[in-house]
Amino acid sequence: MNQVDYLRISLIDRCNFRCLYCMPEGSQLDYILQQQLLTNEELLTLIEEVFIPVGFTRFRLTGGEPLLRPRVVDLVRAIASFPQTQDLAMTTNGFLLAPIAQSLYDAGLSRINISLDSLDPDIFHQIIGIHGRSRWQEVWDGIQAAYRVGFNPLKLNVVVIPGVNDHEILDLAALTIEKQWHVRFIEFMPIGNGQLFSDRGWVSSAELRQQIRDRWGLTESQVCGAGPADVFQIPGAKGTLGFISQMSECFCDRCNRMRLSADGWLRPCLLNETGQLDLKTALRSGVSTYQLQEQVKNLLVIKPEINFKGRDSGVEGAYSRTMSQIGG
Ligand code: SAM
Ligand code: SF4
Repeated sequence: MNQVDYLRISLIDRCNFRCLYCMPEGSQLDYILQQQLLTNEELLTLIEEVFIPVGFTRFRLTGGEPLLRPRVVDLVRAIASFPQTQDLAMTTNGFLLAPIAQSLYDAGLSRINISLDSLDPDIFHQIIGIHGRSRWQEVWDGIQAAYRVGFNPLKLNVVVIPGVNDHEILDLAALTIEKQWHVRFIEFMPIGNGQLFSDRGWVSSAELRQQIRDRWGLTESQVCGAGPADVFQIPGAKGTLGFISQMSECFCDRCNRMRLSADGWLRPCLLNETGQLDLKTALRSGVSTYQLQEQVKNLLVIKPEINFKGRDSGVEGAYSRTMSQIGG
């Protein structure tokens, strides 16, 4: 059985972007009210007194957009300071990153993934659903700042949408030739914008690899903390390429993670809502952290049965929430 030691923590469900693959156009998401969010103190109590004692040692802060969370640097510092924390990472859209990259690094954030779906500012703005000011430039500045302060490996996430950014695969892959960056291509999933998924479909990692192989060749490689990505390298490149193939290849049997939503629901599987625990309500109603440990341990035991096991498993309601709500 896989050891489950990795917790993805959503700090907030709100976002300053509306990526077309994540939030359906014109949709009104029901945001979590402020008083329903786990406070910093509650979150730290759950990590220190529930998750660490049952064996979690690696944490990723995500959202929504995690940099919208007030006092995010303090949270990073506190989580990094637990002696059992072996790895503390963040996934961000990078828009607010440049001014605080150094503080996050100094506070103990070990790794960072930044979403960058296009090198063309016009296409980028079309994808993030926000026009006007040049958000692309601010995200690019955030990437440069993160690289400068020493985040290594610096990972860039690209969700590939047919007819939108799939013509940029080679340009995005080429970023790894001169820079020690790790560019990860993520297969588009029917979570969030099911209509776009039905209209456009998705591009498989195998097709993407073939394009890159035809241009430069491709060798297998490794990168620190690669998780579910298959890692390759353009021969002679400084950086690496990752492919996350959750559509074409089921890696549920290797799943080593759980997710904690911003309002305190512990979710054992991204795509199956079975078995979720409402840790915030339990904590607020006085359930002891020892009892919560027992509940999480029980969930760990049944997790292999809950895991989605591929698109044909027939799990009902699998895609009823967006990645921004679950904590992607
Ligand atoms: N806002 C941050 C960001 O965009 O990096 C963190 C949260 S976002 C929900 C986390 C990841 O989920 C991003 O890399 C995003 O590209 C990915 N994602 C969201 N919706 C997706 C979808 N329908 N298919 C595949 N990946 C998706
Ligand atoms: Fe926001 Fe991230 Fe979703 Fe884009 S993918 S809308 S940046 S939460």
